[in-house]
Amino acid sequence: MKIMAVNAGSSSLKYQLLEMPSEFVISSGVIERIGIKDSIFSIKYNGKKVKDTLNIETHKDAVDMLLRKLGELKIVNSLDEIEAIGHRVVHGGEKFKDSVIITQEVIDAIEEVSDLAPLHNPANLTGIKAFSTALPNIPTVAVFDTAFHQTMDPVAYMYSVPYEWYTKYGVRKYGFHGTSHKYVSQRAAKMLGKDIKDTKLIICHIGNGASLCAVDGGKSIDTSMGFTPLAGIPMGTRSGDIDPAIVQFISEKEKKSLDEVIDDLNKKSGYLGLSGFSSDSRDLWDAVASGDKKSILAVQKQAKIIADYIGAYYLTLGRCDAICFTAGIGENASETRKLVVDKIKALGVVLDKKKNAHQSEEMIISTKRSRIKILMIPTNEEVMIARDTVRLIT
Ligand code: ADP
Repeated sequence: MKIMAVNAGSSSLKYQLLEMPSEFVISSGVIERIGIKDSIFSIKYNGKKVKDTLNIETHKDAVDMLLRKLGELKIVNSLDEIEAIGHRVVHGGEKFKDSVIITQEVIDAIEEVSDLAPLHNPANLTGIKAFSTALPNIPTVAVFDTAFHQTMDPVAYMYSVPYEWYTKYGVRKYGFHGTSHKYVSQRAAKMLGKDIKDTKLIICHIGNGASLCAVDGGKSIDTSMGFTPLAGIPMGTRSGDIDPAIVQFISEKEKKSLDEVIDDLNKKSGYLGLSGFSSDSRDLWDAVASGDKKSILAVQKQAKIIADYIGAYYLTLGRCDAICFTAGIGENASETRKLVVDKIKALGVVLDKKKNAHQSEEMIISTKRSRIKILMIPTNEEVMIARDTVRLIT
């Protein structure tokens, strides 16, 4: 059964076409710069890569072109072979606690929570609508980044602010990266040879965006991102947690609007803000190697906050079977993993130096002596989308 997993952004559209249940990736690709001059279209299939630069005006054009290419390149013999489409949707608010088959009601509900994710949800919806127009007769499923965290208790998700902010406007912690946290916790349980119900895990999803999650028995009980993805640990360009009074202070000092200050916290902070030159972990580690003090501060600061969260989640969970590293940095940057583990030595964790030098492999990277196992697990959100799609349509 062929399933398409789609992630539509405001100017991009990523997809994977998977054979299920084997989870074999038949083809993957991305269309970037939609609606901007010189759109880039790249497709991988059969060990081959096709890349093209052309003007693609709308998501609808992007979808039409993608479907045409799938036929032309003989990736599918007929579009009827695609049995369903799973769409990533960033925000499901409190309404969606699991993935759902998309109906008009679901579209309306996603629109309703769009003020909670004004950059993401409308873009996700554009992708949903474009595919539904092109392939109107097949089921489509929405997989929400927030759904996995809907198991949190109010003590974890409520902020200590006037209660009406929650009842009137939905101000609470939602958490994101849920699809990744869920995938990694399932893999971790397999690697540990345990029923997921008996596992207590801390997942560190550290990519350009980054969040930690405490997972008890397969359920999220706390996570570091909040009402928006700005909260939690410092990221590529996001600040993570700061004193909110800074927002007003900088707004006055720099004569910036609140929007502009929040934009600085989203786009000019984190690695980029402290290093002053890059949001990319590879650049920072190169600079660290040549002794750049600001880059050293940037990576140390992030590692400290990750370690602080791990400490807190360890106490929340009561014990921990494994700390899992995933996403671009978690999977690849051995240096970051080492920095974090050095800061949580009090938990009795011991990293195996040789194993930690590996990248992007599913493996245990702690020594036998380590009281908590440390796992490196490449995340796979597309597979999770495809699995949920199959679960809901069959
Ligand atoms: P997102 O999906 O949030 O955009 P990713 O999960 O792709 O981000 O992670 C991007 C980050 O991963 C970048 O900071 C990049 O430098 C880092 N990264 C990727 N490969 C490596 C590597 N080999 N060593 C260190 N960092 C890496």
